[in-house]
Amino acid sequence: MAATVIDGKAVAASVRERVRGEVEELTAELGRPPGLATVLVGDDPASAIYVRRKREACEEVGIRSIHHEPDGSISQDELLDLVRELNESAEVDGILVQLPLPDQIDSAAIVNAIDPDKDVDGLTPISAGRLARGEPGLVPCTPQGIMELLASAGVDPSGKEAVIVGRSNLVGRPVFSLLLGANATVTICHSRTRDLGEVCRRAEILIAAAGQPKLVTGDMIRPGATVIDVGTNRTDDGLVGDVDFDAAVEVAGAITPVPGGVGPMTIAMLLANTVQAARGRLTVAAAPG
Ligand code: NAP
Repeated sequence: MAATVIDGKAVAASVRERVRGEVEELTAELGRPPGLATVLVGDDPASAIYVRRKREACEEVGIRSIHHEPDGSISQDELLDLVRELNESAEVDGILVQLPLPDQIDSAAIVNAIDPDKDVDGLTPISAGRLARGEPGLVPCTPQGIMELLASAGVDPSGKEAVIVGRSNLVGRPVFSLLLGANATVTICHSRTRDLGEVCRRAEILIAAAGQPKLVTGDMIRPGATVIDVGTNRTDDGLVGDVDFDAAVEVAGAITPVPGGVGPMTIAMLLANTVQAARGRLTVAAAPG
């Protein structure tokens, strides 16, 4: 029997609707709309498209988009000054510095300078540390989107065997912490894993985030498993995931397609994070003393 195909576009649309309602309430409470600052440096065309989509998504749900596009020749110190200015700004609830940055800039130093309470990409070491320790904080968007997709498919990770393929700071590691926090028994695989197929076949929840087209074949999937394919690989056959979808759909219980699975969730969760950051700042402002 073929698997249920999880519709990421529909789940993302429902998250955006939820966020729209929260933005309305927050705007009344704050006396201004929540604000997301985006910083785009250089002329990478893909980055320009990503930032434009994020800004449009903000406007659609009522979040104010505050955009900065410094010259590509900006120095490290000047960019650090801009980040500090945004950290201080009362109008700015979330800060997103689009990566990659030009060669003269040390990206880690810029990301690390972002106020963790405005870190809507969840990429600062403080955010990563909070997540790893199971403390409240802002969580990277794609991993959070994966958890929303699991919830939408009615999959409770508690007590289940979960396997993640990939250990990046952007996807694999945060997904590990989120699944562990949701009480799954979690295994993380990488390029040195000895028998990837054997480990994957244990998974009731399988997350593929390796960036290798069709790395996960049908015979690596446990019958009835929920398979989340994070891979977005541009090939001669178009956009392809890390999972061989045609084979996997025959074995899995539920599976995300590429495109139309994880992809649409990322911007939706950015909006949700901006609301979370704005609410957190409101709580701090309202605290006695
Ligand atoms: P990354 O930083 O390149 O990390 C890839 C991970 O996969 C590494 O941990 C690597 O292991 C592991 N890996 C590579 N080949 C492997 C193999 N043959 N067997 C087992 N493990 C292997 O990639 P990323 O940033 O996490 O992204 C992963 C994929 O998700 C990419 O296709 C990316 O485009 C996609 N992505 C999509 C979204 C979205 O919104 N849909 C967002 C983010 C990323 P080592 O650590 O040993 O090298």
